[in-house]
Amino acid sequence: MISDRLFRNKTSLVAFVASSLIFCGIARAEVDYVIHISVDALRGDVLQRIVANPPLPASTTYPSFRRLQTEGAFTYNARSDFNYTETVPNHISMITGRPVNQPAGQSNTVHHGYSSNFPGATHTIHANGNPAIPYKYSTFDVVHDNGLSTNLYASKTRLGILDRSYDATNGAIDAIGVSNGRDKIDFAQLVDGGSAGIVSNFVASMTATPRNYTFMHLVEPDSTGHGSGWENQAWYDSVKTIDDRLAQVFNLIDNSPALRDNTAIVLTGDHGGGVQVHTDPTAYVNYNVPVFVWGADLPAGGDLYDLSPNRFDPGLTRPDYSAAQQPWRNGDTGNLSLSLLGLPPIPGSYMQPALVPEPSSMALLAMGVIAAGWAARRAVRRVASITVS
Ligand SMILES: [Zn+2]
Repeated sequence: MISDRLFRNKTSLVAFVASSLIFCGIARAEVDYVIHISVDALRGDVLQRIVANPPLPASTTYPSFRRLQTEGAFTYNARSDFNYTETVPNHISMITGRPVNQPAGQSNTVHHGYSSNFPGATHTIHANGNPAIPYKYSTFDVVHDNGLSTNLYASKTRLGILDRSYDATNGAIDAIGVSNGRDKIDFAQLVDGGSAGIVSNFVASMTATPRNYTFMHLVEPDSTGHGSGWENQAWYDSVKTIDDRLAQVFNLIDNSPALRDNTAIVLTGDHGGGVQVHTDPTAYVNYNVPVFVWGADLPAGGDLYDLSPNRFDPGLTRPDYSAAQQPWRNGDTGNLSLSLLGLPPIPGSYMQPALVPEPSSMALLAMGVIAAGWAARRAVRRVASITVS
């Protein structure tokens, strides 16, 4: 219902795409591998500034972020969850596509309901989140249950709640096709103290055994922000550390026959930082995060807001979940990742961004919808059927 209302705002564009679907058929846009990356405390406005104008010393440049930007589609103006700008609740939104709290005026089955940033040792998203939804499906469920493979790498062991919620005990029975078991995460490694080890292990693991979907959390800008703040050389250097990690990921993709031209990167931040460190969800510097999509045949250097019929640049504002014009959010990146794998959205998820080609791109038009994925197609069909009837 909400989506239908949103789509009316760009009806002509959607109708145009719908007609190209009719005449061109639905092109497969999927890749076999998606690396879904969350960089902890990656504040969008400062990142944009230092990537555009590298801070002194001049050696602090960000070639990997520049590559994401010049070869992919992106925005530096996405949003965290409306009510929480802390790590654990936002990561649960990224993998479930759900807000943390029940949005005003909406059903009690929308939100995941897990707001603690320090999970108890036995907590799961299911048992300790929103009781109206006994099981909260995730990206890991959809990938695994459809017969594909998954990785989880995190540089905060507190994110163990992600692993625990979808393990052999707490994961749902696989009811899609052949049962692949209840454990939705084929390989998980969670550490504290830094991301160097997990990225090296990820590269080695993907070289030996490529897995289709990886969710990876990189911590350094958060630990540095807590220690020194966000607008200083120490923080710029922590982003340089992330850039170096991304260079390892690009190197892996570039040199792997299996992964090259067959892998997408989706990258966001869980929150920014600077006001009360980053706990105040009403502060722009805390709720502003980037979203990058690379390797998905989207227009190089494209603005994600120009590529989506149901996401709208919020300027400096903080729209709640009931606003008619929703911004890109970090919670969109789960379903975005699934769409790039050609998979349906997370069951019960609320945040379902759509991607369509730019009308000016003849190459994309010729292909119909390149990277729209299942979610967008469903929405397009729904709008098309409304238009026809
Ligand atoms: Zn933090």
